[in-house]
Amino acid sequence: MRRILLTMAALLAVGSAMAQKPRPDAFPPMEAPLETKALTMATTVEEMAGWDRYPTYEVYVAMMQGYVDSFPDLCRLDTIGTSVRGRLILALAITGSADNDLVRPEMFYSSTMHGDEITGFYLMLRLCDTLLRSYGTSEAITRLLDGTRIYINPLSNPDGTYNGGNNTVGRAMRYNANRVDLNRNFPDPFGTPPMNELQPENEAMIHYVEQHHFLLSANLHGGSEVMNYPWDSFTSRERLNEHSEWWKQVCKRFVDTCRKVDPARFKDVRTSGYVNGGDWYVISNGRQDYFNDCGIRELTMELSTTKSLPTDSLNHYWRCQAQALINYIDEVHHLNDSTPPTSVLSCDVDSPFKVYPNPTRDKATVETAKGRHTVDLTRFPAGVYAIPVEGVWVKIIKL
Ligand SMILES: [Zn+2]
Repeated sequence: MRRILLTMAALLAVGSAMAQKPRPDAFPPMEAPLETKALTMATTVEEMAGWDRYPTYEVYVAMMQGYVDSFPDLCRLDTIGTSVRGRLILALAITGSADNDLVRPEMFYSSTMHGDEITGFYLMLRLCDTLLRSYGTSEAITRLLDGTRIYINPLSNPDGTYNGGNNTVGRAMRYNANRVDLNRNFPDPFGTPPMNELQPENEAMIHYVEQHHFLLSANLHGGSEVMNYPWDSFTSRERLNEHSEWWKQVCKRFVDTCRKVDPARFKDVRTSGYVNGGDWYVISNGRQDYFNDCGIRELTMELSTTKSLPTDSLNHYWRCQAQALINYIDEVHHLNDSTPPTSVLSCDVDSPFKVYPNPTRDKATVETAKGRHTVDLTRFPAGVYAIPVEGVWVKIIKL
């Protein structure tokens, strides 16, 4: 994948006149000041029960392992790699237990590559918890997991978050332990040379991505509230992303869903709540453009104007964003749609799974509560697929 990338970079470098504009966050202080806000820590897993604290590093790792122990049929714990200081970069791989041989679209959430932007870290842990606990009780979540492989990496820069030691996020910093901004350190598809050598956290992330087939991804940040869609390297006038209209729809759905809970959200950058990355400010060597150039549709979600949200605000932010974060997973099934997907939580389904062996190879006829439908399988290689038809997940086996 990297060889392809370099070829692309060589081809595109000539034509990419990089717009150099001020970057609002380009020169933050190297050391974050000691936090005076209330960043209450949970020193045991039990103390996370109210979801009104940040976990210590040990509690975080214990929670991730605890999910595997509690839900062995639904999840697996991957170690993406280790940080400069040897902390674990973890991802929980979650999918339904209905049929593990099923080919399912893969979706990836990753947060807090800027170590002091910890709202997403908390939200991703809670998303893991909600998805796993809701399987089998919520019909919608059950259907979502049965049709999707979801990978959640709550913390991609643990040295930055736990810069003050494993028991506090009060001295969290943006950078990794080598004082490198990880979101300016990816190979640049448009030819800008990196300022630093590839950092261990990013090298591990690239390797992990190359081992999977993620179709959709989100990279969670904080400091603003806005959905930032590709490209970051260009303004929309210079180079429009081929999926920009699709991205606008996806962003609008996310923002609208959050605003149903709190209408004041996502207004500090654009009133719409979303922006073409380069129109906000241009950066190079970011993760979003690298992923999108690799064929993974990645969105940068800026989820709170305060980077390290006080712990007494955490429950409110979860309530605002939980539904939107869950719905965003479902977008992986609608990458080629111009029509919006059925809301994950309102879809009415009698039976979450129906099985249709398909001996005729290129077409399958499926029956749902709404009638008979023909599914064209011409483009699919042989295999087992979960395909949404009229809001019903059907399993189709192409021989
Ligand atoms: Zn950030």
